[in-house]
Amino acid sequence: MLAPAFPSMPAPGRRLSSFRSLVSAAIAVVSLLPALAALALADDTSAGRPISGRWSVREGDGKAVYLFRDGGVDGDRQIDLFSHHMRDSNKDGIDEVRLSHDRDHLVIESQGYPNHPTAIFPNSGNPNTIRVQEFTFRLPLVPQQSDRITRLPMGPIGVALNGVVFFNPFEQGGMNAVEGYSEVWLDSCCGHPQQTGVYHYHKYPACVKSPFPDDGRRHSPVIGFAFDGYPIHGPYEADGLMAKDIEGALAGPLAAQPLDSCNGHADPVRGYHYHVTPGRFPYIIGGYRGVPEPSNNRDLRRPREGAIVDNAEGEGRHSAGIADVRPGAVPRGGRREITITLAAADGHGRSVPAEKPSWVQVGPYEAVAVERQGNVVKATLDIPADATLGVLLDCHLECGDGVGPGRRVLKKNDALRVTE
Ligand SMILES: [Zn+2]
Ligand SMILES: [Zn+2]
Repeated sequence: MLAPAFPSMPAPGRRLSSFRSLVSAAIAVVSLLPALAALALADDTSAGRPISGRWSVREGDGKAVYLFRDGGVDGDRQIDLFSHHMRDSNKDGIDEVRLSHDRDHLVIESQGYPNHPTAIFPNSGNPNTIRVQEFTFRLPLVPQQSDRITRLPMGPIGVALNGVVFFNPFEQGGMNAVEGYSEVWLDSCCGHPQQTGVYHYHKYPACVKSPFPDDGRRHSPVIGFAFDGYPIHGPYEADGLMAKDIEGALAGPLAAQPLDSCNGHADPVRGYHYHVTPGRFPYIIGGYRGVPEPSNNRDLRRPREGAIVDNAEGEGRHSAGIADVRPGAVPRGGRREITITLAAADGHGRSVPAEKPSWVQVGPYEAVAVERQGNVVKATLDIPADATLGVLLDCHLECGDGVGPGRRVLKKNDALRVTE
């Protein structure tokens, strides 16, 4: 069982002030992670009681541990995907993620509450507040491939291992939320809350910790599940190759095919599975290749057909306030300084705030120190030794201490890459 990476987390509606003081404690824990990961791996290989499909369960005195056979490095690995997230990070007496099962489904009860740092909402980029939810999702234990693609509904389309939901790439109104002039303000963890406070991801959330780090050298681990029960993996198919970049069948025993319009493909070890595609529509999944469980989203009771199609037009505005982030890549496992050069105006023609940012974050990594001289901001980040490699992380900064439109937020997409 993994120890928590963060000893404590902020209460709902608050995030950082309490969090900041815990950074050094978190670093101490992070430095133990390789040893803990080894323990977890040893622990995870002890077989559970098979339930159905790729799932088994280990029931002891405490919480039942659900194991998923992901066809990982050693072919038939049983992994505990969820225990890392079955904790009460927001200190309300309820674990964010709770698991059970019935004959046909893994049942995930979730608070939908991010257990990683986020922007403070509301802010100038979003008027909504992140709220604790009471979700119950059912994942088919044995996904059924369909002869037709089911159209993704609006609202939740799947769930990440931390219980936070995935949305399709469109915002209300039907336009691309990730790219083009309709781009919305997503924080560095690629999420934001909608009107009822549901924090959700529209693209690969580099902040969702999987029990296994993603070093880009092999097939990415599972980061969540679509509502048809098929797993969603990180971006990599093989060493240095993202699944989105597969052209023609790969050589080798698995002979992986290019991704289909749902962002999925099949191989003999994993069966059908999805990959996130950083920087490329549909970013998470493009449709359901399997039969989605209708109780998870009202719109699935009368499903429509077909993969979604990109409708991005023009240029996004949200990156306009930050001219430059340097260096573009930093090695993991240490304290790194980055230089953020602010532009004269943000994407809405307003001059950028004059004060020192109260918060700077790149992907999941919060700055531990921030300095500003003129339009140059220097931020110090602690990059853990098990940081995800190779993926371009977004950077966001916040100015002001209030909440609401006066809290000015700036953003730059694809700002920093962590290397070895
Ligand atoms: Zn959204
Ligand atoms: Zn794959």
